[in-house]
Amino acid sequence: MTRKLYWEQPYSLDFTGNVVVVDGTKVELDQTLFYPRGGGVSFDTGVLEGLKVIETTKDGDRILHALESPPGFDRGQTVTGKVDWDRRHRLMRMHTAGHLLSALFYSRANCRITGNQIDVDRSRMDFDLESFDRSQIETFVEDGNRLISNDAPVKTYFLDRYEALKLPEMVKLAEAAPPADDKLRIVEISGIDKQADGGLHVAHLKEIGKIRLLKLENKGKTNRRLYYDVISP
Ligand SMILES: [Zn+2]
Repeated sequence: MTRKLYWEQPYSLDFTGNVVVVDGTKVELDQTLFYPRGGGVSFDTGVLEGLKVIETTKDGDRILHALESPPGFDRGQTVTGKVDWDRRHRLMRMHTAGHLLSALFYSRANCRITGNQIDVDRSRMDFDLESFDRSQIETFVEDGNRLISNDAPVKTYFLDRYEALKLPEMVKLAEAAPPADDKLRIVEISGIDKQADGGLHVAHLKEIGKIRLLKLENKGKTNRRLYYDVISP
């Protein structure tokens, strides 16, 4: 199992790790700051011992770094890595923006998010909404931007599953999480939203900058798709 340094230090870029497996261009370390693709969220890139990491993926509880070419190092060696911060920070901003929007959609229109894709250039959210009213969606985005400029801390912490099930507000989260997990990782936008989530987020809403609505699409009778990105305010 790879130790997830990115959960412990989401704002750190440099780290060292011991090589566990080298398989062609794929490298597994005992610990990493590289966030792997998963749950609709894109992955970190960067460098490992001078070689480009072009993709990071998950295989069970192992995290695999795909390098541009087979490395000169092997099992048992210590290597240094560096995460591409521009890409990482954009993904963090996009991801927290997605949580903020989903909280507004849920609280204002009682609509559920049915899918999401958090990426660097643009992100998308699918949701259920009977009547398609563009101005209503624009209002949600405006409200989101107001909350961002008011700022709020974003915290991550672990809750014991059993304890979480005793809190009414947490039951939904606890039930939605994979049953094998006895600890739930919670991402909380203070006063706005709580979700069980394995992703990386900015520490303060203000870091998002501004959410920009790019496109709205109809994907069936009640299914809507929203594209957004984040820009400087
Ligand atoms: Zn998330």
